[in-house]
Amino acid sequence: MTTGIVKGIISNLVQVEVSGPVSQNEICYINLGKEKLMAEVIKVVGNIANTQVFESTRGLKPGDTVEFTDHLLEVKLGPGMLSKNFDGLQGDLNKRKGVFLTRGEYTDPLDENSLWKFTPLVKVGDKVSAGDWLGSVPESWITHKIMVPFVMEDEYTVKSIAGEGDYKITETIAVLIDKEGKDIEINMIQKWPVKIPITAYVEKPRPFKLLETGVRTMDTLNPMVEGGTGFIPGPFGAGKTVLQHSISKNAEADLIIMAACGERANEVVELFVEFPELDDPRTGRKLMERTIIVCNTSNMPVAAREASVYTAMTIAEYYRNMGLKVLLLADSTSRWAQALREMSNRMEELPGPDAYPMDLPAIISNFYARAGFVYLKSGTTGSITFIGTVSPAGGNLKEPVTESTKKAARCFYALSQARADSKRYPAVDPIDSYSKYLEYPEVIEYLNANVNPHWVKDVNHTKDILLRGKEAQEQINILGDDGVPLSYHDKYWKSELVDRIILQQDGFDKVDQSTPMKRQQYMLELILEICNADFVFEGFEEVMPFYTRLINICKQMNYMEFQTPEFNNYEAELHKIVAERRAK
Ligand code: ADP
Ligand code: MG
Repeated sequence: MTTGIVKGIISNLVQVEVSGPVSQNEICYINLGKEKLMAEVIKVVGNIANTQVFESTRGLKPGDTVEFTDHLLEVKLGPGMLSKNFDGLQGDLNKRKGVFLTRGEYTDPLDENSLWKFTPLVKVGDKVSAGDWLGSVPESWITHKIMVPFVMEDEYTVKSIAGEGDYKITETIAVLIDKEGKDIEINMIQKWPVKIPITAYVEKPRPFKLLETGVRTMDTLNPMVEGGTGFIPGPFGAGKTVLQHSISKNAEADLIIMAACGERANEVVELFVEFPELDDPRTGRKLMERTIIVCNTSNMPVAAREASVYTAMTIAEYYRNMGLKVLLLADSTSRWAQALREMSNRMEELPGPDAYPMDLPAIISNFYARAGFVYLKSGTTGSITFIGTVSPAGGNLKEPVTESTKKAARCFYALSQARADSKRYPAVDPIDSYSKYLEYPEVIEYLNANVNPHWVKDVNHTKDILLRGKEAQEQINILGDDGVPLSYHDKYWKSELVDRIILQQDGFDKVDQSTPMKRQQYMLELILEICNADFVFEGFEEVMPFYTRLINICKQMNYMEFQTPEFNNYEAELHKIVAERRAK
């Protein structure tokens, strides 16, 4: 095993003179008295390994000794991860007090003493390879598959398989024979290096199925797909975190993985406190039962931010291989990029734009590329839908992290300061935002067949109403209420109707916080029908009261359970008012 001696310390960049070969991303431990600090090799120059330490380096001095481990930064995968709160290095935060860590303490992410009820899925003589399901155990409400470890690259024959029964994760549940006739014992634990994608699937086609989030401004105007990617850029306080939480509560996913990266600890503590209490609107169970939180808050060592997003992605890939729909959220990917920038600057690398590393665009796009919809060897499908937030300094969307993310992610949900200031939540700008999935023929075909046969026409029409409303408003502001034709007022108020009823959504109301697609389509048709109507007004003074009345009624409808007698009464009243005003 290679050893080394600390030569230089620049904050958490530690330069180590090595005695033998070390590889990129290899993990080492720096001995600091009785403590062992975990570090990762990020660059090797001659016999000097530049390592980033995942802990505070306080007290470390040249001459301290280092042990290399010959393995990369990896996660431990197996049943028992669901409902857990991990730190960036997959330490179990529940095994500690709060989210504050003791330096040098690395806890086991899995519980070696729990028993799991195993059911075999293969029989003796079966041929298997990486990612194949050997058996399953119930984990909370999902069926956790015990798979052939992803590192086993050949084809194997099942020599023996455990019968139905209770086992610990460390017990052998199968023996496989390799090509040379050697026995390989398999238990329920496997390890995987976080920076390498798990690709034990058959095919990764372009995603095409709608992923309902329950958030109208997303689903109705710029839909996300199962296995798709998106990002939410927005200035501080615009609602990135609240929007991600809304998505996580309501999205049609089997499993949610939240990577809280570099944000303030109190926001994350809120997440810990709030999530266990929340009911899952889809299953009626506790939301935490299908959530894993990986957290590296602003008070934790910066280097572990990078680890935290990769750890979260690797856990997502593991569950995807079980045929699950995983939703992965990262808040905020800017903090991760800033951590990369700090390290790159400390190593005095040639800087790219705004002093970020030159390869930032590649790092971001490689990360986003790990999401996706896959066909598995078992004949089923699995997916990782990934949505990250970006916090551009000063709301400048031309900065490198936003620009690089824009190239990597297919959906763009831009939060606007102006909308947030006027409390138009969620503050997603309907004009600037987009979903590139609406350019995929297979997505359109899916939406037309499963949701609405004239989806694209409706979306374009709705965006057009919003755009023309905005233009009309600008003219009214310049020329005055009576300086513009009556039709400008009408256009403006039609766009207000769409904005207040379709786009705006109360993230804190029991009913309004999540709208199923069927209901979204129903309301959209209703609103578009009103927007298509010609109304008779005597003067501009009549326009606002008329539309305000419609908006109030539709708002009541939004707060009501769908198609209840009350809902229907409001709808009938709406039709009556509209009919009275309609041009003959
Ligand atoms: P960011 O993460 O972009 O800094 P937050 O998501 O923390 O911003 O939102 C800041 C504040 O804005 C919240 O505490 C809340 O008061 C308000 N807010 C954001 N989104 C909504 C929403 N959908 N409904 C109601 N209030 C919201
Ligand atoms: Mg936030």
